[in-house]
Amino acid sequence: MDDGLETLEFQAEARQLLRLVIHSIYSNKDIFLRELISNASDALDKLRVESLTAGADLGADTSDLHIALETDRASRTLTVRDNGIGMTRDEVVDLIGTIARSGTADLLQKIKEAGDSAVQGLIGQFGVGFYSAFMVAERVTLHTRRAGTEAGTRWESDGEGTYEIQTVDGLPVGTSVTLHLKPYDGEEAQADYLAEWKIREIVKQYSDFVRWPIRMVNRRPDGADDGPAGTRTLNSMKALWARPRSEVTDAEYAAFYQRISRDPLAPAETIHMRAEGKFEFEALLFVPSQAPLDLFSREGKRGVQLYVKSVFIMDDCAALMPNYLRFVKGVVDAHDLSLTISRESLQHDLQIHSVRRRLVKKVLGSLKGVQESDTERYARLWKQFGPALKEGLLEDPDNAGQLMELLSAESTHDKERTTTLRAYTDRMKEDQNAIYYLTGESRANVENSPHMEAFAARGYEVLILTDPIDEIWVAQVPEFAGHPLRSIAKGQLDLGEAPGGDANATAETAERDREFAALLPWLTAALADHVKQVRLSSRLTSAAACIVGDTSDISAHLEKMYRAMGQPLTSVKRILELNPAHPLITALRAAHEKNPDDTGLKEIAELVHGSAVLAEGGILPDPARFSRLLTDRLPGTL
Ligand code: ADP
Repeated sequence: MDDGLETLEFQAEARQLLRLVIHSIYSNKDIFLRELISNASDALDKLRVESLTAGADLGADTSDLHIALETDRASRTLTVRDNGIGMTRDEVVDLIGTIARSGTADLLQKIKEAGDSAVQGLIGQFGVGFYSAFMVAERVTLHTRRAGTEAGTRWESDGEGTYEIQTVDGLPVGTSVTLHLKPYDGEEAQADYLAEWKIREIVKQYSDFVRWPIRMVNRRPDGADDGPAGTRTLNSMKALWARPRSEVTDAEYAAFYQRISRDPLAPAETIHMRAEGKFEFEALLFVPSQAPLDLFSREGKRGVQLYVKSVFIMDDCAALMPNYLRFVKGVVDAHDLSLTISRESLQHDLQIHSVRRRLVKKVLGSLKGVQESDTERYARLWKQFGPALKEGLLEDPDNAGQLMELLSAESTHDKERTTTLRAYTDRMKEDQNAIYYLTGESRANVENSPHMEAFAARGYEVLILTDPIDEIWVAQVPEFAGHPLRSIAKGQLDLGEAPGGDANATAETAERDREFAALLPWLTAALADHVKQVRLSSRLTSAAACIVGDTSDISAHLEKMYRAMGQPLTSVKRILELNPAHPLITALRAAHEKNPDDTGLKEIAELVHGSAVLAEGGILPDPARFSRLLTDRLPGTL
């Protein structure tokens, strides 16, 4: 028969990744075995799930699902074999020859730019998986046959750009991966992966809890067999989550976490819980130390797997974890669900809803625990996951109170450290009646905003919110601990007198209002294209003017973000506030009083408005005109 032998090229990104793997960015090569066992274990899970649903049609024997490891000193090969789901020829080309995951190019770019120390973390997040075989092998041969199909496939490559693929007959269902190990006298010596003790050590360390038997096949049985003839089972297969907490070591938790997350770092938090009563389940959840690169990509996965009575049911179980906690990894083992439950029915299952509620409480409680016990560690966690947790303020109103407690934000109180809202309210001045914040692009931008002046003068603390999502949650969350949240760039300010202010303030204000009675309506008309009102300000001390919004208006920062995203937006007209004590404003008033028809005055008005827009980091309506008006006038001042 025509076996369709083809030599194909790896996709460009796959080639790049292979090159990185071969030139060994991993310092720890042992993990290749964990990766291959992990793939084999997944393939066994898939076959079990599929045979539960497809049943006899699949024609696969699921009575002895296992992973077999076999070494051969003469040919220097190590083989990892499973009798799982297998792959079709097309699947081999798609899954092994390419990297389908989006963001690959970005990641490879980051890897290139990163220093050596960062590379491991980056590549780990990527899950080199199968390719890790090329760290220790100079050539890899894969034989596979998909359950429910007849033809098998042979694939072989040295990882250098091309691979061979052909159809072969007579293969058993499942996959075997044969590694032709690199010689000892290569550039670097590598461990002896042909030695049974070495294999056993690696399996114990990384794969002990795999739920399928991992058997070492002895070519020359040494009499210590406990499985089918000539084999020995290397792993204990005990589900970690089913064991009492007191009997699981940190190293075991970390190894388990690393298997399910592919994260080379240890988890930041481990949550192991058992629920008894009406609906029994065990959960083993982890908060990573570092956010995955795809935390904010649409395809980013949720990390919780569902098991039923210790049988794997599905990855990425969306019903168990809300979207804003998608960085949490782990396993939930529910006792009273049907093994054939589908994703769709899970979404509507009331018991699952109640499990999810309890898991969320546990995770938030654990984060709160870190916040209370270790500020530094909490700050690091918040930096990684805060932006996702803030989504919870919008997504999960039931837990908004708890999330507000967890919230950390920069503030004018401390340049180095963020603050919680609780700490903010504890520091609030006696006469202060709101939690003040300002949103903007950067800390410097916000700090230098003219809106800040009056607050600085009164010693009121202002939260500095620079994360894009801040714009959205502050608009949804009305208060914290009885104090309203208020943007200092919106609405009329009623701050009272600044310290050291004049006692006759009210009389003075009335006098000032009279003085400006003519100028303000004139300015409002002159700037009608840009603002809806011009009024006097109580928030400015040194700047001449600033732009403020009505309480319901979107902020300048948000408007800019929408525009950057190409969102059509009808321009929102805001309010121009003037500092009546500023020399430019008093001079403008005097000039207007003298000659209200002077055409030059309108240009000054435009300059005042334009400078206020620039000061808050906004976009000028007509930058060229602004620049010309300014430079035309400057010679007169020299
Ligand atoms: P990952 O496991 O992160 O998806 P891999 O490169 O390890 O990446 O594997 C790519 C895909 O190839 C897997 O998702 C799986 O679909 C398939 N695959 C790998 N090994 C096996 C195997 N032993 N049996 C069946 N499919 C496999």
